[in-house]
Amino acid sequence: LGRSLRASLNKLSTIGGASEEVIATVLNEISRALIEADVSVGLVKAMKEKIKAKIELTSDSHINKKKLVQKAVQDELVSMLQPATKPYLMSRKKTNVIMFVGLQGAGKTTTIAKFAGYYARKGWKVSMVCCDSFRAGAFDQLKQNATKLRVPFYGSYTEADPVVIAEKGVAQFRKEKYEIVLIDTSGRHRQEAGLFEEMQEISAAVDPDNTVFVMDGTQGQAVYDQAMGFHDAVDVGSVIVTKLDGHAKGGGALSAVAATASPIIFLGSGEKFDDFEPFNAKSFVAKLLGFGDIRGFMDELQSVKDKDAEKKTQANMIKGKFTFRDLYTKFESMSKMGSLSKVMGMMPGMGGMASMMGGDMDAKFKTFKFILDSFSDDELDGKIDIHTAPDRQKRIERIARGSGTHPAQVEGLLQQHKMFAGMVSKMGKSGMMGGMDEKKM
Ligand code: GDP
Ligand code: MG
Repeated sequence: LGRSLRASLNKLSTIGGASEEVIATVLNEISRALIEADVSVGLVKAMKEKIKAKIELTSDSHINKKKLVQKAVQDELVSMLQPATKPYLMSRKKTNVIMFVGLQGAGKTTTIAKFAGYYARKGWKVSMVCCDSFRAGAFDQLKQNATKLRVPFYGSYTEADPVVIAEKGVAQFRKEKYEIVLIDTSGRHRQEAGLFEEMQEISAAVDPDNTVFVMDGTQGQAVYDQAMGFHDAVDVGSVIVTKLDGHAKGGGALSAVAATASPIIFLGSGEKFDDFEPFNAKSFVAKLLGFGDIRGFMDELQSVKDKDAEKKTQANMIKGKFTFRDLYTKFESMSKMGSLSKVMGMMPGMGGMASMMGGDMDAKFKTFKFILDSFSDDELDGKIDIHTAPDRQKRIERIARGSGTHPAQVEGLLQQHKMFAGMVSKMGKSGMMGGMDEKKM
């Protein structure tokens, strides 16, 4: 798709003042390319009309037509992916019950594990309930994932009624004040009788705060009808698209969102728990339109983010401030420059860090990064000072759990940070940092 769409868009630039005719041809080509990418025909037609209207409204001959069409296509796709309905926002003050629905093999159980890991790392109390009593081994699969993630789970080998399991599981985790309860359901096969009834009964029994439709990104056009079916049966609040690794075209996602008018919240891109990222409409559309592959695009985004982070860290250090996020940023830029041990001495303000840390630096760095990944934003930014927090020990334990490390290792990182922060603060006061050129960092 990417290539043909781009070719269509490029055609506009090679023809000087694009005529009505040329624009019509290009719009037709774009439409064909979108349909090839599994976007439903009805949607493409509607989109075409909207774009046409937009271009006619601004039919000033001085405006570059190629840019206009390109931007109109992008904007239209992005707005289709951002329905008026906002995604459900979880509250830390209650038990958020989230039910996952979708066909068998769509990736529900895997996605629940990814979702659980994502929020557990951010410090939420997460739990899982397995209501798939239909597929053999379903409970074992969830149990294995939960154990790996060190997240509590509920299920049964003997109870056949998923509604009973759901009720009991949710009741237990509510009582234990879990902040998130993830409910895994059975998918069965397309059109199999009883699937929707079962979902409705579970839904009625536990009254979920949000129902997430898990959709196989490789399924293409078929997904549109599927999404409609699930939407009509239960109140789908958000969508997660899986399997967007490999050659998935992803256009089906557009159709699904349009069908359910529910926002996409995450994308899955592999079988590992880490292959999971919050959804961003703009980068998704960039991929769909073939402006660079998604990894390249993400890398670019990341490098911009890194540069921003470096600037902030530098500004902090000049003021004699050094947060855990600054430490993270320093680790990141150092690891990119090659062997840590070699470059550490070269970093302004970080001289002597290498000898202080000792041992295998690159291995230590990795562990430290895992640990910092489990910090909350407030902890990273120093809005909550872990060093002096009254619940310091509890936080350390949570972070150790989230990062799969020992509290002693977290403690080690805290000591390192304290040491560096002390150095930076001294240098900040003595004005030593002020002489450094910000742009060189
Ligand atoms: P469920 O029946 O909906 O619960 O689906 P599962 O979670 O059991 O997943 C079905 C298969 O798809 C498993 O082999 C998963 O490893 C695989 N899977 C799930 N999500 C992804 C993904 O994002 N990418 C890839 N490549 N495979 C995935
Ligand atoms: Mg499953």
